[in-house]
Amino acid sequence: MTFDYDLFVIGGGSGGVRAARVAAATGAKVALAEEYRMGGTCVIRGCVPKKLMVFASGFSEMFDDARAYGWDVTDGPFNWPKFRTHLHTELDRLEGIYRKLLGGSNVEIFDARATLKDAHTVSLATGQEVTAKHILVATGGRPVVPDMPGSELGITSNEVFLLDEMPKSILIVGGGYIASEFAGILNGLGVNVTQFYRGAQILRGFDDEARGLVAEGMREKGVNLHLGTNIVEMRAASEADLANPQGVPMEDGRPVAPKAHSGAKGIWVKATNGTEQVFDQVMFATGRSPNTEGMGLEDIGVEVGRRGEIVVDEYSQTKVPSIYAIGDVTNRVQLTPVAIREGMAFVETVFKGNPTPVDHDLIPSAVFTQPELGTVGMTEEEARDIEPVEIYCTSFKPMNHAFAGRSDRVLMKLVVSVATRKVLGCHIVADHAGEMIQLAGIAVKMGATKEDFDRTVAVHPTMAEELVTMKEPMRTA
Ligand code: NDP
Repeated sequence: MTFDYDLFVIGGGSGGVRAARVAAATGAKVALAEEYRMGGTCVIRGCVPKKLMVFASGFSEMFDDARAYGWDVTDGPFNWPKFRTHLHTELDRLEGIYRKLLGGSNVEIFDARATLKDAHTVSLATGQEVTAKHILVATGGRPVVPDMPGSELGITSNEVFLLDEMPKSILIVGGGYIASEFAGILNGLGVNVTQFYRGAQILRGFDDEARGLVAEGMREKGVNLHLGTNIVEMRAASEADLANPQGVPMEDGRPVAPKAHSGAKGIWVKATNGTEQVFDQVMFATGRSPNTEGMGLEDIGVEVGRRGEIVVDEYSQTKVPSIYAIGDVTNRVQLTPVAIREGMAFVETVFKGNPTPVDHDLIPSAVFTQPELGTVGMTEEEARDIEPVEIYCTSFKPMNHAFAGRSDRVLMKLVVSVATRKVLGCHIVADHAGEMIQLAGIAVKMGATKEDFDRTVAVHPTMAEELVTMKEPMRTA
C-alpha cells in the first residue's frame, strides 16, 4: 500500500515540531497540521511568555535592591500595554522561526485542524484527506475550569497574556505550577494577588520543606495566600458588592442578599472560609486536560483514558499500531523537554529502527515561583517510605539579599540513601534555582553519591557551593 506521507504529525507544539523535523531528516516524507499557531502551548501561551513575565515582574524588587547597592534610581509604574506589545512581537518572531525550521526541513505544513478517519487517514478541516504510514498525535492539552456557577467569568493562563489591562486585584485558584507562578508574577507587576488553594500546602508532590519555604516567601512578598480554601460561588459584582468590596454586600448599613449582574465591573466571590470579596479578575489554574475531544480517536480503536489522555506504551505507540502519541496529550509528564524527548524517541524507534523507550526517570524541573524552586529526584517524604535516608539541608540568607536588607532565605537540600550513599533527591529554593538544578540534575542522573558531591570543590562565593559543603546530616529518616 502506498501512502501520501511516511509520517503525518497532528499538532505543531514543541513535541510535534521536533518529531516532524527529525523524522524528515531521515529522508521520510513528513507533513504536520496545526489548527492555531505554530509553537504550541510552550511558545505561544506557556513557558516562553510566562518566563518573560517572570523577568518583567522581577524588576519591582530590583529597584529597591539597586538603591540598597548605591544606585540613585526611582521606580515608576509598570506599563502592561507596552510590555504586551513587545511580548507578542517576540512570540510572532518565535512562531516564524518554528515555521522556517519546518519548511527548511521539508516538512509540509497544513494550517488546519486534523482529525483521524482511520488508522492511516487524516481528515483536514479544509476538506482534504491524506494518508500516512504513521500518524503522530501531539495535540497537547488545555486548561480546565471547575464546573461551578459563574466560573465562565474567570480567565485561565490562555487569556492572561492577552489582557487589555492589568487588573488591580486578582484571585488565583489552584496551588500547582501555574497558579503559584502567576501569583508571583502578577504580585511583582503590582497586582493585588489573592490565591486560594484547597489543600494544606501549595505545590503538592514537591518536597514538603521546599514547598513550605516557597509559600512563606510568596506571602512575604505580598501574595495573600489562603490554604484549605476554595470558591463556593461567584458572579458578576453588583453595585452593592462594589461599595463594599472586602465584605458582605451592605445597604443602609445592613447586609443584603447578592444581586444579579448589574453590569458593574468585577467578580464577586464567596469562599469556603466565609469571606465575600470582589476581584477585578479571577484566574483558574486548576489543571490541564489532554486535547483528544472530537478527534475520532476512539472510533478507530485508539484507547483514551479516564482523564481524556491517549494511552500509549513505553514507545509512545497506541493500541492502533500505526498511530503514536507524545507530549501532554498522553498525560505522562506535562513538560516541554519531556515531549521533545518523547518525539525523538519515537523517531529513533520508528524511522531509525532502534527501539527506544522514553526515560521518565529523574527529570529535573523548575517552578518559576518567587522564590524559585528547582528539583530533581525523590522528595524526603517519598524516599523515607522506601529506604532509610540521611537529609542534608541548609537554609540561609544569601549575601545579595542580606546586603539589600531583604529577608528572603534560600534552601539547599540533599536526600541521601544510607545504604548506597546515592543522592536520591536534590531540592533548591533560591534565585536561579532552575539554572542550578539543571546542573545538579546531571550528577543525580549519573548516580552520584554524597561523597562525589563532597569531593567537588566549592565555587566561592556562590549559593550553590552549599550543595558540596554540607558535612553532617540534619537528620535521618
Ligand atoms: P497542576 O496539576 O500542577 O495543579 C492544579 C491545581 O489545581 C492543583 O493545586 C489542584 O489541587 C487544583 N485543582 C484542581 N481541580 C480543582 C478544583 N476543582 N477546585 C480547586 N482547585 C482545583 O496544574 P497546572 O494547571 O498548574 O499545570 C499543569 C501542568 O503544566 C503541570 O502539571 C506541569 O507539568 C506543567 N507546567 C510546568 C511548568 C514548569 O515546568 N515550570 C509551568 C507551568 C505548567 P490538588 O493539588 O488538590 O489536586
